[in-house]
Amino acid sequence: MAALEDLHIEGKRVLLRVDFNVPLDENFVITDDTRMRAALPTIQYILDHGGSVIIMSHLGRPKKNLLPNGEMDRFRFSLKHLQNHLVDLLGGEVHVKFSNESVGKTAKLMADKMSPGSVILLENTRFYKGETKAYTTFAQALAELGDVYVNDAFGSAHRDHASTSTVAKYFKPEERGFGFLMQAEIDNASKVLNDPEHPVIAITGGAKVSDKLLLLERLIDFADTIIVGGGMAYTFVKAQGGSIGDSICEDDKLDYVLDLLEKAKEKNTTLLLPVDNVAADKFAPDAQTKLVQSNSIPDNWQGLDIGPESIKQFSDAISKAKTIIWNGPMGVFEFEAFATGTSEIAKAVAKATQENGAFSLIGGGDSVSAIKKNGLADQVSFVSTGGGAMLEFLEGKKLPGIASIEG
Ligand code: AMP
Repeated sequence: MAALEDLHIEGKRVLLRVDFNVPLDENFVITDDTRMRAALPTIQYILDHGGSVIIMSHLGRPKKNLLPNGEMDRFRFSLKHLQNHLVDLLGGEVHVKFSNESVGKTAKLMADKMSPGSVILLENTRFYKGETKAYTTFAQALAELGDVYVNDAFGSAHRDHASTSTVAKYFKPEERGFGFLMQAEIDNASKVLNDPEHPVIAITGGAKVSDKLLLLERLIDFADTIIVGGGMAYTFVKAQGGSIGDSICEDDKLDYVLDLLEKAKEKNTTLLLPVDNVAADKFAPDAQTKLVQSNSIPDNWQGLDIGPESIKQFSDAISKAKTIIWNGPMGVFEFEAFATGTSEIAKAVAKATQENGAFSLIGGGDSVSAIKKNGLADQVSFVSTGGGAMLEFLEGKKLPGIASIEG
């Protein structure tokens, strides 16, 4: 593989996989273009260096959201909705053509006729069965469109799909590489995993322990402190004999979390759990609330956020860290009444970064939303664009989108 700067791009057609899976409203207007903006430096670099760009991406899950007649909704999930906005983002001067197929005669003809400085946006790769099944025939047809392959879709790097992984093998190592976004994601996560400055604190949260088992096991090996907040925490509290009322809990993981606590002790890793919670009488934004001890949540009440004492303890621990990884909210932050814990942790992470010189990696998904909601995105070290991909990277898995480029 080669770094983008080392690829021979002049006069070449660069087949570029990006993650343009942006949210659209009911009028097909883009409501958050972060993912498109994230790919601009790579696109612009290729254009500025005499190349042309063939952009491929997926958008939504067309095969899971079929029309009543059982067919795919080729209008709703079309990348055509993104064409004009891409033109605007590129400054209005670049010619962006849309190909209403990802592969086929028309796409091939358009690609063959490209001139340097031009862009083709291919139709949604997920309209093809071969994409998610990583079929070689589909991957090869994609590969025939370009001379060089660049992957800048970190958000899809954990998928072993034709356009994210299989396609790479049709290019020689010196004809394939990572885009700037992908490279930054890999560099920042690797820095945290391979060479972190201690103390390292990992903040975990979200709904389920079962989604974060591998992450927790990995973290025990190299973090000095692990905070467990959010819905995950109640399984730990119950396993240790606490009463958690109606709080979310995975009963089949009670023994597992006890083992995990034991392992943490053996490795000298401090595992911090909430000591108090904001409990609700129902799972709703307008629920009645009361502050309770985490290990004595009354029947018919459920913990939906961490309480002030937990916020204080967690923030104290964060303030001492030199490396911070955050993956998962502290409560049901989508409801304003239960967003305080997550917001306060976001502030503590930003403060440690700014005042203590800590390196902070926000690991994608809901933690990123929380950081953005609090206007703190520019006060942390790195905000990942990949939810599932970053989680798997931190778990230590080799992601197919990365492995295929590295060869
Ligand atoms: P995850 O995708 O696993 O990071 O989980 C994120 C989701 O966890 C968010 O939608 C939160 O609303 C949810 N969550 C966090 N804390 C709780 C809780 N105490 N009870 C129920 N759901 C929670």
